[in-house]
Amino acid sequence: MKLGLLGSPVSHSKSPRIFSTLSRLLKRPIVYRAVEVKEGDFAAAVQRTRNQGWRGINVTIPFKLEAANYAARLTPAARVIGAVNVIRFGRDIIGHNTDAEGLRDALKFAGVVMSGKRALVFGAGGAARAAGWALARGGARSVRFTNRTASTAKGCVRDLAPTFPRTNFSSGAPRNADIWINATPLGLQGYPDVSPASKALRAPVAAVDLVYGKKTAFQRHAERMGALVTDGTPMLVFQALRAYEFWDRPFSAARRAALAEKLIKELS
Ligand code: NAP
Repeated sequence: MKLGLLGSPVSHSKSPRIFSTLSRLLKRPIVYRAVEVKEGDFAAAVQRTRNQGWRGINVTIPFKLEAANYAARLTPAARVIGAVNVIRFGRDIIGHNTDAEGLRDALKFAGVVMSGKRALVFGAGGAARAAGWALARGGARSVRFTNRTASTAKGCVRDLAPTFPRTNFSSGAPRNADIWINATPLGLQGYPDVSPASKALRAPVAAVDLVYGKKTAFQRHAERMGALVTDGTPMLVFQALRAYEFWDRPFSAARRAALAEKLIKELS
């Protein structure tokens, strides 16, 4: 099966390694190529991969919004989140978002109970929206978005609230919560490594950093407070597995978790 990733930059991406390991684990041939795409060339690059017989593609920064506009059809999750990280070629080009499902899987995998809990999401971009979706699907009582640009956080509330009437969405200054999610790039290479959570907040039960592969100030901060802390590696692995399932066929929950465990070990 021919698959790949379109984005910029993609040289540091762990997806080729995830899919070559998955190919070995599933004993199925998977060819997965990461392709660097220049701004303005996204639509042409998608067409090229389609013409070359690829089954589908992952989409990453900075094309997740463009991919949502480009797809002929969107799955419900992609429509609500407004960002596409997976495209499947068939008669139509279908856009989907597996960051949301991937984060929900990762939270469950880490033993984080979402049902009835209050969540605080730092950031209001595509990953924050996916986090809001995952938390609400998991039964969170409330989800608050706190972001340096207030209007973007308000947009998250406006777009997610109608789909999840049982979850109380809000935006604004941070408030105490049971679950923290860092959906900002703080701690990522090229960004300041500071925790977005103020010291005045009470300890959460669990904190998930979407930044992966390093111990950030956010993770150290939450660990010092005694929270259960996870980086973005499990989410990365689960969103990749969910993408593969979208291109091929679904795994059982047990099979998905077993594959994720092996892939997470491989990446650490
Ligand atoms: P995005 O759409 O660009 O959104 C970034 C968000 O972070 C925005 O709300 C932005 O605020 C905020 N932000 C950016 N720089 C900041 C700074 N210096 N201080 C405070 N806030 C800042 O990005 P995204 O796609 O949502 O990704 C966010 C993070 O999640 C990235 O680190 C990405 O690598 C990670 N991610 C991980 C996975 C995974 O599988 N682990 C999947 C997806 C994303 P403004 O609105 O004010 O600009």
